[in-house]
Amino acid sequence: MRPYILAETNWKSIKERKIELAVLPWGATEAHNYHLPYGTDILESEFFAAEAAKRVYEQGMDIIVLPAVPFGVNTGQTDITLDINLNPSTQSAILDDILATLNRQKIYKFILLNSHGGNDFKPMLRELGLKYPDMLLISCDWFRSVDKKLYFENDGDHADEMESSLMLYLAPKRMLPLSEAGEGKAKQVKIKGIREGWAWTERKWSQVTEDTGIGNPKKARKEKGEKYFQAVVKKLAELFTDIAQCDKDELYQ
Ligand SMILES: [Zn+2]
Repeated sequence: MRPYILAETNWKSIKERKIELAVLPWGATEAHNYHLPYGTDILESEFFAAEAAKRVYEQGMDIIVLPAVPFGVNTGQTDITLDINLNPSTQSAILDDILATLNRQKIYKFILLNSHGGNDFKPMLRELGLKYPDMLLISCDWFRSVDKKLYFENDGDHADEMESSLMLYLAPKRMLPLSEAGEGKAKQVKIKGIREGWAWTERKWSQVTEDTGIGNPKKARKEKGEKYFQAVVKKLAELFTDIAQCDKDELYQ
């Protein structure tokens, strides 16, 4: 029983505590090439949140990790079987209800730990920040916290060498061997501005990649996953600590 994981703890422990900071991991349920499970983003978010929270809790700060939200925005994958889409407006409604509970109970510091590229919580937190002015609302993407190029040879952004290495380290029994994986080959969009990254349109996933992966996973290794995991956890623990310790009304110097 880990006291910093809400789903594992109990009222006896919770009712005595003054919780400073709540963390909400948010994943997605979607195909990840042929070899990784649909729950990859959920698993990653739970492992990262738990390990970072552990370090913060052990330093004496009271932090709680809420159960991960398992569904993300998958509007570009309507034809991929059982990729479950939550519209951004639905996500915003869920977030509003969770924040209403925290706010009512005076748990004013909140971190949304995002684990899925299609989720974009910034506009929601802007709007909900007006509704809950006493709260400090933070979002972060663990997959952008350290430079992937320092750890992996092949770049990618979905079921790639990074995610496959992480899963080899964190949950190898929940994946097929790498020999079962597709190459994660992705087509380039024809429009230059979009390729350059400053113009945007939703990717039609099944037109971009055949195996649903983007990025070649073949050079994935457990050791790479472990190094990367530790580096990301270090960044997250630092962020969580800074937020737990800060005066939320005196953020600037
Ligand atoms: Zn993923």
